[in-house]
Amino acid sequence: MARTDVLIVGGGAIGSAAALFLRRAPRAPTVTVIEPDPTYALASTPRATGGVRRLFSCPENIRMSQASMAFFDRFAEQVAVAGEAPDLGWKAGGYLFVVDERAAPILERNARLQQSLGVEVHLLDRAALGARYPSMRTDDLTLAAWSPGDGWLDPNAVLTGLRRKAQDLGAAYVRDRVVGIARDGARVGAVRLASGREIAAGAVVNAAGAWSADVCAMIGMALPVSPMRRFEHYVEIAGTLEPLPLIKDLDRLVLRPEGRGYSVGLVDGSEQRGYRFDVDHTYFPRVVWPALAHRLPAFEALRLKSEWSGLYDENELDGNMILGNWPGRAENFYVAAGFSGHGLMHAPAVGQALAELIVGGRYVSLDLSRLDYRRVMAGAPYREQGIV
Ligand SMILES: Cc1cc2nc3c(=O)[nH]c(=O)nc-3n(C[C@H](O)[C@H](O)[C@H](O)COP(=O)(O)OP(=O)(O)OC[C@H]3O[C@@H](n4cnc5c(N)ncnc54)[C@H](O)[C@@H]3O)c2cc1C
Repeated sequence: MARTDVLIVGGGAIGSAAALFLRRAPRAPTVTVIEPDPTYALASTPRATGGVRRLFSCPENIRMSQASMAFFDRFAEQVAVAGEAPDLGWKAGGYLFVVDERAAPILERNARLQQSLGVEVHLLDRAALGARYPSMRTDDLTLAAWSPGDGWLDPNAVLTGLRRKAQDLGAAYVRDRVVGIARDGARVGAVRLASGREIAAGAVVNAAGAWSADVCAMIGMALPVSPMRRFEHYVEIAGTLEPLPLIKDLDRLVLRPEGRGYSVGLVDGSEQRGYRFDVDHTYFPRVVWPALAHRLPAFEALRLKSEWSGLYDENELDGNMILGNWPGRAENFYVAAGFSGHGLMHAPAVGQALAELIVGGRYVSLDLSRLDYRRVMAGAPYREQGIV
């Protein structure tokens, strides 16, 4: 039977970041990534909006964004293979959360925390907001948090760069699907693949994104993560507006500039869970367009050019990632899932944290222990209250 020190289930942004950082670790373990689809046709990573922000309420999320942004700042250098790296497409367009009086105190509290951690965040009252963004309807708003250094990037570049670099550093990518994991006492061992092959693994990382609960079920571990469909729409309007940041409002409307137009989404948390990829073409005119035209009246007339769907790996417990092993039951089986819409921006930090945990047995650069599986076992949510 073939053997690997670390077997990673899923080669998206998270699995590839883990592979890269594991291979970079001192006394680097051998790494095998099992990924059934090298085109990533249904994976979440290439379908993401690409937003990168530090506007969170949990310090861990803020710090993970800071660590990942430091990686993205030096992306070309970090992932270059034979002197070449994909263009990250980084746009420091800023983030803007806008809220009414109900959420203003939380937005203000979050901003103070973000500032205390070194993030440049400005609180704008209605007048300042209207002056800065004249195309925005502000009469129903009380406060905004604006972080000019946040922005967005190209998800495909992140995935390609991480994967190529991981391979260059010696990680093996195998085109196959994990269908079974053997458990022996409090450890996992051989991993069975759809092809019939078996690989003995010293440790297993579950980075299967929206499919991660199915992988956990292979060892009887209950993971409160479900696939949740989410639509993205690309629209263009006739005129030209002032440069807009990535805007989020309390309707969970998200908008950011993209090329000649705008990329828009509106998360529906009540969406029926499941592996659903079809696009409901009534959703944009029914739900998104009214919210968009309300916030930015210039979008009353627009052209919807394209729309697609993708899956969130939604953590039903608290909307935060679950990172770490199953204490006492599967000590060498690590989960990195439940990102609930933040996984792309946090991938480098998660990859580094996993490498520290697996190789050294503890976190070094960032303490992420509050996000481990013990809170699931205890039924104790650790909620992100980043407003939207
Ligand atoms: C519309 C949309 C917008 C988003 N916007 C943002 C954003 O702006 N910013 C942000 O940070 N995040 C965003 N996200 C979330 C982000 O895309 C995810 O959190 C992130 O891509 C998760 O990466 P991953 O590697 O865990 O998952 P994936 O990219 O889905 O990779 C998981 C891989 O596991 C593989 N797999 C599944 N089952 C098995 C198995 N049994 N054996 C082997 N392999 C298996 C799959 O083939 C897949 O390639 C968005 C998501 C969507 C859908």
